[in-house]
Amino acid sequence: ERAALEEYRGIEARTRSGRRIEVAANLGSPQEVEDALAWGAEGVGLFRTEFLFMERPELPSEEEQYEAYRGVAEAFGGRPVIVRTVDIGGDKDLPGVDQPEEENPFLGWRGIRMSLDVPELFKTQLRALLRAAVAGNLKVMFPMVSDVEELRAAKRMMDECRAELEGAGAEYGPLETGIMVETPAAALCAGEFAREADFFSLGTNDLVQYTLAVDRGNERLERLYRADHPAVLRLIEITCGAAREAGIMVGVCGEAAADPKLIPRLVELGVTELSMSPPSIPRAKKAVSELP
Ligand code: PEP
Ligand code: MG
Repeated sequence: ERAALEEYRGIEARTRSGRRIEVAANLGSPQEVEDALAWGAEGVGLFRTEFLFMERPELPSEEEQYEAYRGVAEAFGGRPVIVRTVDIGGDKDLPGVDQPEEENPFLGWRGIRMSLDVPELFKTQLRALLRAAVAGNLKVMFPMVSDVEELRAAKRMMDECRAELEGAGAEYGPLETGIMVETPAAALCAGEFAREADFFSLGTNDLVQYTLAVDRGNERLERLYRADHPAVLRLIEITCGAAREAGIMVGVCGEAAADPKLIPRLVELGVTELSMSPPSIPRAKKAVSELP
């Protein structure tokens, strides 16, 4: 099977009727770029930025973040690189911020909720991204969004950051702004979100957990944790329908994106970007190539 997959690494993925589907990489740090390119990544659908915040007591500086984002944007040339703002909380600890003990961390102070409450952390990240956007095709997306007001608040902070950079005479580039659709609320309100977001990225890892009320890390529930559950597929369908109507892009960056059994369904529903861990890329390109 490996040898048969080799020929798919370097191709641009297309269905037999010519629909272009971008097969991209999920990255956890800039060190993974080489590997992703070698596996045939056509872009980055999810650049997780938690690595900058882990295992250190101080928050990363704007400069350090700028260098990290710029490096990845440059490595991918004109290809899209979607950076997710920090998604700490839930199961992940952030030493630089005082985090409360929570009864239900997955339903707690995480993702965009935390970022909006700690503007000095969030705006440092946004300024670094705006500056790095000069170097390539960078986009930003927010995790764990469940209310349109969160997207609006984040965009207002981006406006403040642009004004600050302007005032400092610093250069910044255009930055498309999207959301992860990983809560049922975001999927059900996709029509509202689509009017204010430039793109959607379905985070099926969390979407499955929150839709089915099944802990994504609980081995005893493994049989119940299914991205092909009709309730999950229905939410994906709603998201894709709203995106189509608004004319915005939908990608998938959860594990479901790499599942050859699900890819036909996702593409049929209107997904045009599949992002996954790099070794899964050739197999996904093959699955796309075999679609009608
Ligand atoms: C997801 O929830 O599907 C996702 C891609 O994000 P993470 O796995 O980092 O929560
Ligand atoms: Mg998630």
